[in-house]
Amino acid sequence: MIDGLGGLPNETGKTELEVANTPNLDQLMKKGVYGLMNSIKRGVIPGSDTSQLNILGYDPYEYYPGRGPLEALGAGMELKHGDIAFRANFGTVNERFEVIDRRAGRIDTETAHEIAKSIERIEIDGFEFIFKPTVQHRGVVIVRGDKTAVIGDTDPHKLGVPVLQPRITEENKEMVKAVNKYTAEVHRILRDHPLNKNREFPANIVLLRGAGEFREVESFENRHKIKGCCVAGAALYKGITRYIGMDVIERAEFTGTFETDLKLKAKVAKDALKEYDFVYLHVKATDNAGHDGDFQKKVRFIERIDRELIGELMDCKEVLVVTGDHSTPAVKREHSHEPVPFLIANVDARDYGARKFSEVECRKGELGIFEGKEVMQIVKAYMERTKKFGS
Ligand code: ZN
Ligand code: ZN
Repeated sequence: MIDGLGGLPNETGKTELEVANTPNLDQLMKKGVYGLMNSIKRGVIPGSDTSQLNILGYDPYEYYPGRGPLEALGAGMELKHGDIAFRANFGTVNERFEVIDRRAGRIDTETAHEIAKSIERIEIDGFEFIFKPTVQHRGVVIVRGDKTAVIGDTDPHKLGVPVLQPRITEENKEMVKAVNKYTAEVHRILRDHPLNKNREFPANIVLLRGAGEFREVESFENRHKIKGCCVAGAALYKGITRYIGMDVIERAEFTGTFETDLKLKAKVAKDALKEYDFVYLHVKATDNAGHDGDFQKKVRFIERIDRELIGELMDCKEVLVVTGDHSTPAVKREHSHEPVPFLIANVDARDYGARKFSEVECRKGELGIFEGKEVMQIVKAYMERTKKFGS
């Protein structure tokens, strides 16, 4: 799963994939089955979370719990049915409670973890607030209690304005009250923290966003009768797969950035196939390069994937699927609705004549243009895990 894989032509008239030199992927195309996938549906611009849930067989319109719970699971937190989870940021406010930095001066991870100890667990009006720091200013907060509710952000997402008070409704008023008290309590504890004394931007507030309610869902194994695991670096993708009950294989070398160890990822995935039927291997930095608008950087990372990751998998006899969760064309710097290339290799395949792994060449194949929700059915067919319908 190559994040943001699809692209659009730049001034040369070619997409990132068309410019990239990808001998291994091209080789797999010769003996593969291919098409183009709309990861959610035609005309919808997919998020990474909603699209990947759909591809794994979970309709996001029914199962998407919001970003908060997925990030919390990705950070290794245990969630209970009914917990509300937020993405959280250490930020800096002045004496009028106005946000003057949303990242507390890009605080380093070590200091952030030390400061976080003072606000690990806070109880307010029957709600338990649990904070876990992750990388730099980032973290997650979960709220547990009888009257939890999904509420709006306290993070104003801009500077010079006060910390937001989420809008109150009949259902969420206890929760909003508690969250407002929590924000004030966190500030009271952090403003005098010794590690904040000499900081230009003290970490003196926790800003919350992306609230979602965690509910347990049917496991991937139960749904598909396939035992799966995930190999990923970035928290969101570990969260998505944990949410559907997959095991996650973590290594410090898997960073979710350009520096990630692609070769090791492939090796770990191959190894995991001894124990699992299905390995979900996620690579992130293609999407980052697209968001940066850096066409060449995306090309170079695709070439590295071809060399280091696909190269390592070339001797693999298992069914190999290569695709993306959406397009992130460098010319758009954002996700776009165009479908993404989809390839299944190491299977019996007809030759439709494509010789390069790219958007346009994949269009030639018999999979045509299909939707993300069809992926598991198609993949299972090639894994020979489906039965005849009728007699
Ligand atoms: Zn994505
Ligand atoms: Zn993205």
